[in-house]
Amino acid sequence: MKNTLNRRQFLKLASAMTALAAVPRVVGAATTAPRVVVVGGGFGGATLAKYVRMWGGNVQVTLVDANPNHVSCILSNLVVTGALPMSRITLAFDSLKANHGVTVMQGRAVAIDAAGNTLTVSTSSGNKVLPYDHLVLSPGIDFVPAAGNWSPNLTPHAWQAGPQTTLLKNQLAAMSSNDTFVMTVPKAPYRCPPGPYERACVVADYLKRKGRTGAKVIVLDANASITAEPEAFGHAFNVTHAGVIQYVPNATVLSVDSSTRSIVTSAKTVNNAKVLNYIPNQRAGAIAATLPLNSTGFVAVDPLTYGIASYPNIHVIGDSCAVPSSDGKAVPKSGHMANSEAKICADAIIRSFTGEAPDEDIATSSACFSPITNKTSSWLSTNFIYGDIFDASGNVKGKGMHRVDVGEAAADMVDGDSYQDMFIWADSMFADSYI
Ligand SMILES: Cc1cc2nc3c(=O)[nH]c(=O)nc-3n(C[C@H](O)[C@H](O)[C@H](O)COP(=O)(O)OP(=O)(O)OC[C@H]3O[C@@H](n4cnc5c(N)ncnc54)[C@H](O)[C@@H]3O)c2cc1C
Repeated sequence: MKNTLNRRQFLKLASAMTALAAVPRVVGAATTAPRVVVVGGGFGGATLAKYVRMWGGNVQVTLVDANPNHVSCILSNLVVTGALPMSRITLAFDSLKANHGVTVMQGRAVAIDAAGNTLTVSTSSGNKVLPYDHLVLSPGIDFVPAAGNWSPNLTPHAWQAGPQTTLLKNQLAAMSSNDTFVMTVPKAPYRCPPGPYERACVVADYLKRKGRTGAKVIVLDANASITAEPEAFGHAFNVTHAGVIQYVPNATVLSVDSSTRSIVTSAKTVNNAKVLNYIPNQRAGAIAATLPLNSTGFVAVDPLTYGIASYPNIHVIGDSCAVPSSDGKAVPKSGHMANSEAKICADAIIRSFTGEAPDEDIATSSACFSPITNKTSSWLSTNFIYGDIFDASGNVKGKGMHRVDVGEAAADMVDGDSYQDMFIWADSMFADSYI
C-alpha cells in the first residue's frame, strides 16, 4: 500500500524519533551499578549507550568503537558528489560523554567470552578485557567478496563512510566525457535498500552538471528488479537521467578485477571501467559474526529484547541483526531502524535490571530520503508493530514485527521540498543518536 503516511506526517513523527517503549524504572543508586558494554558507535550503538544512561540511572555504560568518531553513511552520497563536506557527516562521541556520562573507549572488539561475560578489546595500548552484565553489538556490516582480485583500495565500495567516501569522490571527480562509472547493487538483504539507486542518480546528475558529455552510469543489480521505491527510481532512470543510466537486473557478480576495474556478472561484463564502484554482498559485522548466523549471514534476534537464543546477556541491534517480520522481507537495514531498535533494547535491558518483563507494546520505523538530483529527493518510510506475523497465505507463523505502513514517494512527488526535508530529518537523527 502506498502513501498511507505522507512525507509531512512522517517527518513530524520521525522528528520525535520515538520507539513506543515506555520509559522504564531507573536502577537505584544503592545497588552496585550494572555494566553495559556496547560495541559500535554508529546509529545503533550510540543511541543504545545514550538511552541506557538517560533512562537507566545507576548503570555504567562503556561504548567501544574502532574509530575516534563515527562517519555517517546517511548523506554520504552527497559527499561523494562534493555537495557536502566530510565534516557534515562526521559525528563526535563528545556529547555522549559530557551530556550522558558514557565512557568511550577507542579500540577494536576482537573476542567475546560468553561464559565469562567479558569482551576483549584491542587498543593502541594493548588488549583490554571488559566485564559486562549485558553486551550489545552494533558493528554494522561486513562484506562477502566476489571471486577474483578485489581490493577496495582500488575500487571503493563507499558503503562504510570515511576514507572510502573520499576515494570514490576523487575517482568520480577525475572522470571525463564518455567515461563509464560502473556500480553494483548487492543481493538483498543489504544496508539501506534505496541507497545504491540513490547513488546512481546523484552520480548521473553530477556527470550531467559537470558537462561530462557521453559519460555513463551502468547499474549492475544482483536482484531481479529495483528493490526499493521502484516507481521513483524507475522514473529517475528512464526519464530524469535517461541516456546516462543503464540499469541491468539479474546481474550476479561472478568475478571482480580491481586492478583493471573489470567485472563479470551473469548479465553483463564490463572491462576497464573508469570507475568501478563494486558494493559487495553483505553479512553481519565481524564481531557479531562470531555468534550463530541465519542463512543470509545475519544474527537472528528476539525483537522484544534484541537478545539471542542461548546467549541471554548478549544483544545484537542495527544492520547486523535479522528481525522476523510478516511478509518474509527483512526489516530494513537503516540508521533510522537501528535507532529504533536501540531504544527497545535499552528499555529491555533496564527492565531486566529491575526484574520487569520486556514491554510488548513496541513499534519500530525506518526512513530513507534519496536525492535524485542536486535539488530533488524521493523518500520512503516503513513502520512496524510487534505482534503476530503471517505467512504468504495469511496464517499466523509466530511473533515478530508486523509491517503496518509503507509510505513512499511516487514519481511526481520527487521534489525540492523533500530535498529540504531530508536535512531536517537527518539532523533529527544525528541529534537523537549523538547529542
Ligand atoms: C549511501 C548510504 C545512504 C544511507 N542512507 C540512509 C538513510 O537515508 N536513512 C537511514 O536510516 N539509513 C541510511 N543508510 C543506512 C545506515 O547508514 C545504516 O543502516 C546504519 O549506519 C546502521 O547502523 P549500525 O549501528 O548498525 O552500524 P554502523 O552505523 O555502521 O556503525 C558501526 C560502528 O561499529 C564500529 N565497529 C565495527 N566493528 C567493530 C569492532 N569489532 N570493534 C569496535 N568497533 C567496531 C564501526 O567503526 C562503526 O562506527 C545509508 C547507508 C548508505 C551506505
